[in-house]
Amino acid sequence: MTAKLIDGVKISNELRAEFRIRVDRLRASGVVPGLAVVIVGDDPASKVYVRNKARACEAIGVHSEVHALAQTTSQAALLDFIGSLNADSAIHGVLVQLPLPRHIGIRAVIEAISVEKDVDGFHFYNVGQLIVGEAMFPPCTPFGCMKMLEHAGVSIEGKHAVVIGRSTMVGKPMALMLLNAGATVTVCHSKTRDLAGFARSGDILVAAVGRAKMVTGDMVKPGAVVIDVGINRLPDGTLCGDVDFDAVKQIASHITPVPGGVGPMTITMLLSNTLKAAEKAAGLRTTAAETRIV
Ligand code: NAP
Repeated sequence: MTAKLIDGVKISNELRAEFRIRVDRLRASGVVPGLAVVIVGDDPASKVYVRNKARACEAIGVHSEVHALAQTTSQAALLDFIGSLNADSAIHGVLVQLPLPRHIGIRAVIEAISVEKDVDGFHFYNVGQLIVGEAMFPPCTPFGCMKMLEHAGVSIEGKHAVVIGRSTMVGKPMALMLLNAGATVTVCHSKTRDLAGFARSGDILVAAVGRAKMVTGDMVKPGAVVIDVGINRLPDGTLCGDVDFDAVKQIASHITPVPGGVGPMTITMLLSNTLKAAEKAAGLRTTAAETRIV
């Protein structure tokens, strides 16, 4: 079998074309949607991510501001700055790029972002909403994975989904979204015994670890749907995922590539959440079809 590719670039382009219509609707009602991205320090990868987010905003007519603060910025100064963005009516989404310098507490920073502007969906309030199954802002990476499953026509209800990785940003919210969609979910991590055995039992297998090509062909159930969240740089400078793509595509029914899979979808769902925030602030109705997780 050769798996069908779930193309994150193609799905992103389709979704972003729909987003342009929503931006036009907002602008017609006098609101320009705005996203503020705050970056602290000089992490080169973070700078690339921030630039990509700003470009994606501009391409669909969303106002974007990148605020680059010095590595030495104190936590108190950062919290003050976030407070000013919370109070700025031209800004509907506030995102603080992670990681942060060690002297700044990530939790304090995330909790300082207004719940109405927490477009990354990491605030405790939004995390709690996700547990209840009513997330205002679903975290962008797992939200993007769910959209990929939807666009590939993969039914989730009753399936066994295996998520490798239990991070707060990816693995745990991914597991919750799959659970909320009716899957039976197993979450694996670094302490899991017989990872291969669990992985092989998944109808849907999501890898969110950060270890190049760790999911090998013998870890995948024939016909499984494989979503590769990992982004790893090989010694030759090329990017690859957590899945051994060439081997697994012979076994899976559907597979996401790296690059061109979950990465672009993450930014697309950030745009989705930003538009939702702006629509809410403008008193416009966001239809369920535009923002539902599945
Ligand atoms: P993370 O916070 O480092 O979490 C990694 C998870 O993998 C942890 O739960 C860890 O288990 C688990 N793990 C580590 N080694 C393992 C092993 N040998 N077997 C099984 N599980 C293992 O990383 P993350 O933020 O979730 O990101 C995961 C990957 O996705 C990274 O490559 C990251 O770059 C990528 N990513 C991509 C996007 C995108 O847009 N495409 C967005 C976010 C992240 P423990 O909890 O037990 O330590």
